[in-house]
Amino acid sequence: MISLDSLSVTGWHMDERSHRFTDRGVSTFREEVLLWYKQHGRDFLWRRGRLRTYHVVITEELLQRTSAPIVNRFLPSFLQRFPDWRALAEASESEIRHVLVPVGLWRRRAKMFSKLAREVVHHNGRLPQDRRSLEELPGVGQYVASAILLMRNGRREPLLDASMARLLERYFGPGSKADFRFDSYLQGLAREILSTGNPRDLNWGMLDLSAAVCRATRPLCHSCPLSGGCQHFLNKLPVHPHAARSHTVR
Ligand code: SF4
Repeated sequence: MISLDSLSVTGWHMDERSHRFTDRGVSTFREEVLLWYKQHGRDFLWRRGRLRTYHVVITEELLQRTSAPIVNRFLPSFLQRFPDWRALAEASESEIRHVLVPVGLWRRRAKMFSKLAREVVHHNGRLPQDRRSLEELPGVGQYVASAILLMRNGRREPLLDASMARLLERYFGPGSKADFRFDSYLQGLAREILSTGNPRDLNWGMLDLSAAVCRATRPLCHSCPLSGGCQHFLNKLPVHPHAARSHTVR
């Protein structure tokens, strides 16, 4: 497995594909995304102010395979019933399942939330500081660990999911691995984009742009702010076979 902490963020030394990118290309992409986000970014509860780590984890776990608008509507009722780790740890799995019914996958999610909450409470409500230990927690993979490090620690961590991977591959060119989580090219590219500017706005901008414009099928290229530098658009390429893959739904 690739250690994200070991990737270079200052140059293009990740793999043989790196030579295709220029600082200018990355910087244009970054500027266009930030500009677009200022005008069209979506307003979700978790984007308003600073969140407690508990809220970050619950939100990001729910965003795995459930669309952001649905999570936005559902989140207040979940947090009202389970306001903190202890409340979640003390609830039975069947109680958690019942509350999760509106967002689906309730069996798997209830089991995971219950295990995770008990583990956190066992450690006095504290989550580890480093990526490796975070990823060892029940249900916390690469993506949720990145979200915690971004939101809690203010680190420049990319929220690289299937949607963001699709946007990057179309604009800069395809990665080399079937699974974007293990693609050093995509991981490095996302980190380079986040190397300057507001990392939250950049992440959310890429996620929103991929959801609203650079859609999996029938992307709206003619109204896309990135069309001037996008390989997919300029070369009239067909939709990439990875375009429909989905680990998260934004
Ligand atoms: S021009 Fe089209 S393919 Fe390229 S980033 Fe925009 S929507 Fe996606």
